[in-house]
This record gives sequence, C-alpha cells and structure tokens, in this order.
Amino acid sequence: MPTVNGLGDPLMEAVVTAAPPAAGPGMSCRFCGAAANHVFVDLGMSPLCESYLAADQLNQMEPFYPLRVHVCPQCFLVQLPQYVSPVEIFTEYAYFSSFSSSWVEHARLYAEVMRKRLDLTEKSFVVEVASNDGYLLQHFVEAGIPVLGIEPAANVAEAARAKRVPTRCCFFGVDAAQDLVRGGEQADLLVGNNVLAQVPNLNDFVAGLKVALKPSGVITMEFPHLMQLMEGNQFDTIYHEHFSYFSLLTVERIFGAHGLTLFDVDEIPTHGGSLRIYARHAEDGSRPIERSVPELRAREERAGLDGLQAYTAFEEQVRKTKRKLLDFLIEAKHNGKSIAGYGAPGKGNTLLNYCGIRSDFLDYTVDRNPYKHYKFLPGTHIPIFPPDRIRETRPDYVLILPWNLRNEIVGQLSYVREWGGRFIIPIPEVEVGA
Ligand SMILES: [Zn+2]
Repeated sequence: MPTVNGLGDPLMEAVVTAAPPAAGPGMSCRFCGAAANHVFVDLGMSPLCESYLAADQLNQMEPFYPLRVHVCPQCFLVQLPQYVSPVEIFTEYAYFSSFSSSWVEHARLYAEVMRKRLDLTEKSFVVEVASNDGYLLQHFVEAGIPVLGIEPAANVAEAARAKRVPTRCCFFGVDAAQDLVRGGEQADLLVGNNVLAQVPNLNDFVAGLKVALKPSGVITMEFPHLMQLMEGNQFDTIYHEHFSYFSLLTVERIFGAHGLTLFDVDEIPTHGGSLRIYARHAEDGSRPIERSVPELRAREERAGLDGLQAYTAFEEQVRKTKRKLLDFLIEAKHNGKSIAGYGAPGKGNTLLNYCGIRSDFLDYTVDRNPYKHYKFLPGTHIPIFPPDRIRETRPDYVLILPWNLRNEIVGQLSYVREWGGRFIIPIPEVEVGA
C-alpha cells in the first residue's frame, strides 16, 4: 500500500491527501452554466423574509438559509443559489397584489397603454405569467379582451377566478407553454411582472416564453433594475425569493439566446427602480429596435456592468452602510433614546437580520397590514403593532424600513414632530430627517 509521508496510517493518509476545501460552495451560472463563484454580496444567514411568527412560535427553532449572492464572470448574471425550493415559497403565498392600491393603479395604466399600442381587441389573447390575484388581467377582461392567468399559488389563483379572470394553477416553463400551443392559445401579449427574478430555471422559463408567443406577439417583463440596486445601495431588496438580479446587458443576452429580441425598454420607479422590457421574436422584423435599448446599454457599460470589478466592489459598499447605520443606532442608545420601526416589509427583514438589529435597538415596529399585527419579524423577533402604537409611546426616532415610500410615510407620521421625534432613513445610507 502506498503511503504519504511514510505515515502508513490509512486514516491519516486520507486526511493528508484530501483536496483543500473550495473557497466557497460552487455554483454554476443559472443562465450560461459557467462557474459563478465570485461573490457579489454575502448577507449572512437569514430566515425567509415573509415568514412572520406568531407568539407561540417564538420558542421554536427557525430555519435560516444563506443569503450569499454570486455573480457570473461570463454573462454577469447576479444570482442567488436556490437554497429553498420554489414549491416551499410560492405554492401558498400570502402576498395578494390587490392589497396595494398603487400597484393596482400601475396595472390599470399599463393595460390601457398596451391595449392602444398593440391594438388589442376581442380577437386578441393576453397571457400573464404569475398573474397573482388577477390585479392586472381584470383590466383587460373589463375591455372585453380574452385573457389567461398562470399562477402557481392555489389560494391566490382562486382569488383571481372569483374576479372572472380565467387562471391555470401551475409553474410556467416549456411544458406549460406547449400545453397552451396544443390548446391553440398563443399570446398576442405575454406579460410577467416581478416574476423573472423569481424563476429558478431561467432558461426553461424564457424558452417557454418563446413557445407561448404568437409570431407577431409581444412580451413585456418588469423586474428590479440591477444598476439601480447597486447605485442606490439597495442590498435589502435581496431575498431568498429573488433568484436573479438583471441588468439590461444580461437580460438581453438571455432573451437573445432563446431567439427573442428586446426592442424597447422603460425605466419605471417601482421597487426602487425597475425595468420594463419589450421583446419579440428575433424573426419578427415588423418592430424596429427603439433608441431606448442602445442608450440604456451604453449607460450600463459606463457604470462598468460589462466587467467583473463593479460587481465585486459592491460588498464593501454594503458593509460600510451597515457600520454607519449601527454607529448611529449605538450612539442613540448610549444617549438613552428610544427607537421604533415603521413597516414590516420583506426588505426590512433582510436589513435587520444582516445588521443584527433586534429589539435591543428597535422596541417594536408598526404596519398598516392587519395580518401582521401582534406577529413578530422573522429572525429578529421584533413585535409588530398597529400604527397607533407610535402615538402612544412617543419614540425619539422612527426607522423607516420601506424607504422607497419615505415621502408618503413621513407625511403620514408628521405628528411625531409634536414631541420632537425624528425619522431615520437607512438606505442608500443612514440619514436622519426632522
Ligand atoms: Zn453566466
């Protein structure tokens, strides 16, 4: 038997000859398959951001998963390995789009614009992937345009049917698209809002879009814009439910690989800055590529998004933001100040867990959604109360967790100034306002 260093002990031999551990767990790029082991940002271990806890769950174990985001050095897709199965996240989803009146209004305007732009009539067919509770398709139904929603969460799909929005309960991909083709149901307009980022099998999904689209059809997809995430330091919009983070450069490459051409792009303010891309079959020459596409591509190149360095520099920026926020909170607590939170959004949970802010800093938070009242934030176990709690306890500071709604919230809470209370905005970096 060969020996290593003459030790002659098979166990020692195994230890000595074992390969050194890899720098981090390996990941193949979800799109191009290259080794995507460069870290974009590591936010540590975090619970699923929508897993609010009831009081009787506080003494139980709670699952935490890594929130370590990678970037592919070939196609620059920023991506989270699939730590949690989509079935676990999406089949009984608590998020009903229609709870947000501004989001329903956004959908209504979109439906109106697209109906005119594409001349949609009662002979057209509109399909929405991840159609939620019918918040968007209902506007096409009202205009007499045939629709179909595709939604994996059974409870949410049921709510859509109650609104007379025909809805099929499944995950979308090539299989589901072929079912549509067999039923003669290809789409003139194929919509997906805030779904592209949440798809684990990205290639199967985009290939399915190609299959489900009529030869002259148009696809529109909305998703948070990676360039805005990086420039605005919006690391708290990273959650386990978001598997991919897209620049225009990368999404164009992905669609191109599946025979789809982007011919227009809008920058829209939702979720701290999103893109709405417009795609068609590569073979369809009837829609020329608008100036918006090369213009945004050029801006992304100027921001360095076509090279690895801009991505790997992001983590240090995030760490600095954490230190500044903690410096402020520690100083406030040294001075005997009380701090409450406002809001219990998913992004707040990423921020609080990453920064290690628990009820040692925040006495509580409040939210307008009655489903969250008297529950506790996942991981940090900060209690959630109705908004009146702020008036009752008169905190010195209110930390605004949904910073994207800061103006609206500061307006609603203007009464905290009666006792000299002030607002803390954590992102893009800690800012204290009167
Ligand atoms: Zn890649």
